[in-house]
Amino acid sequence: MKKKSLGPRLRTRGGLSVRKRWTQTIMELKRPHKCPTCGWPSLKRMSVGIWSCGNCGSRFAGGAYQPTTKTGLASQRVASSKTQQTTII
Ligand SMILES: [Zn+2]
Repeated sequence: MKKKSLGPRLRTRGGLSVRKRWTQTIMELKRPHKCPTCGWPSLKRMSVGIWSCGNCGSRFAGGAYQPTTKTGLASQRVASSKTQQTTII
């Protein structure tokens, strides 16, 4: 991947707090993420919301800046509870 300078993109509107939050988001994005399939921290973001593992090659959809999001976990919980309900019925 081509290394992009963070300089020009830091010029965000909204002052220091927004820039700080933005830097945190990018740091979170660049941090190695653990693969949910093999457990190796070789997960990389292919595109916005698309994550790929360099170790086992699995590819899945996730958050824009993190492989798992709070909303994603919540929807997973809802989905699992729904399937449980169907099995009970
Ligand atoms: Zn993996």
